[in-house]
Amino acid sequence: MKSRTMLAIAAFGATLLCAATASAAQFVGPGPDGRETLSQTYRESRMDDEAYQRSVKATKVFDNLWYVGPGYVSVWLLETSAGLILIDSAQEPYVDHVLENIRLSGHDPKDIKYIILAHGHLDHFGGAARIQEISGARVVLTAEDWPAVEAAGTRPGRNGAPPPRVPKCDMVIKDGDTITLGGQTVKFYFTPGHTDGALSFEYTVYDNGVPHKAFFSGGSGGRGGLKGAEQALGSAIRLNRDLVGVDVFTPAHAWTGGNQYPNGSIFERLERLKARKAGEPHPFVDKASFDTWLKAINTNAVELVAEEKAKLAAQPAPARQ
Ligand SMILES: [Zn+2]
Repeated sequence: MKSRTMLAIAAFGATLLCAATASAAQFVGPGPDGRETLSQTYRESRMDDEAYQRSVKATKVFDNLWYVGPGYVSVWLLETSAGLILIDSAQEPYVDHVLENIRLSGHDPKDIKYIILAHGHLDHFGGAARIQEISGARVVLTAEDWPAVEAAGTRPGRNGAPPPRVPKCDMVIKDGDTITLGGQTVKFYFTPGHTDGALSFEYTVYDNGVPHKAFFSGGSGGRGGLKGAEQALGSAIRLNRDLVGVDVFTPAHAWTGGNQYPNGSIFERLERLKARKAGEPHPFVDKASFDTWLKAINTNAVELVAEEKAKLAAQPAPARQ
């Protein structure tokens, strides 16, 4: 099992987490808070370590893009001349941290026009209701995943907390749809697999005025069962066929890295960005690593389909009546 699942998470008791594109990376070295652990994947996904999660401060990544999330799940803020687009929203107890990071970045949460959700899991949409109330933003997701968001509002939250506040089904996005705001166009890709309605998109970032095509993955890899595996394979084949010219990757989890996305996780790249000198390449502009990721999600999905089929074949046949 090379990747796909976030085994480290299970080891420390998190409740609802994504397995977007985790890899079993085995880096050793200090994280943003200076601590050392054996595994970068483990280190950067310490969901219940509030002090650590709140230590991740807003960082400007491109002329028009900020990282404003905690550590275990990404939140990106895209600036346009006509307002802000928030990419994912984290969940309680970190929504105030996201809001504080947005303010630290010099922006007003009231200027958020769209909140784009990766998929219908709480770690991604858990902050959307509060941020929508503050901003009046439209909340964007697929028809396939909106029911999961609404259903989550009827169940207890993390660690026995009351049901989370969730947005009502607002803006429904289909494959190929676009949103344009202040000169920025976001083009959506329907990429089921991790959930039935995971939502990915391409957009444009600028490094000292030079444009680059960026891609946000709303989750890749199946989440168990043949159906999810086959969905993930279909999504991987489609992205490999249709994504052209992407050289910047902004994944839904900042610990994404390792063999599947080599040359450093998002946090490692943020560290390198801080140390970048004039004229040096931007550590997030890395087409080779993105192409490796594209190939890896395909290879992993092929393997997963085979594993799921083997599991089904190994099951005893149902007794005849
Ligand atoms: Zn998820």
